[in-house]
Amino acid sequence: MATKKIGTAGRFGPRYGRKLKKKVAEIEKKLKVWHKCPYCSKIKVKRESSGIWVCRSCKSRFTGKAYLPK
Ligand SMILES: [Zn+2]
Repeated sequence: MATKKIGTAGRFGPRYGRKLKKKVAEIEKKLKVWHKCPYCSKIKVKRESSGIWVCRSCKSRFTGKAYLPK
């Protein structure tokens, strides 16, 4: 659920601080953008799940950091 200004981080309950939610929202914003594929160099990489990234161009699947491919 995306609520208020905190965006996707709104799923966290009120017991989490506003600062933390802001941080999470910022990280999740990065998750929605395309990343560069280390194999074909195209900006076609999306995060499939935590730490797993998939290139939509060359179909390669690789592991990376939870929030960024590298
Ligand atoms: Zn690729």
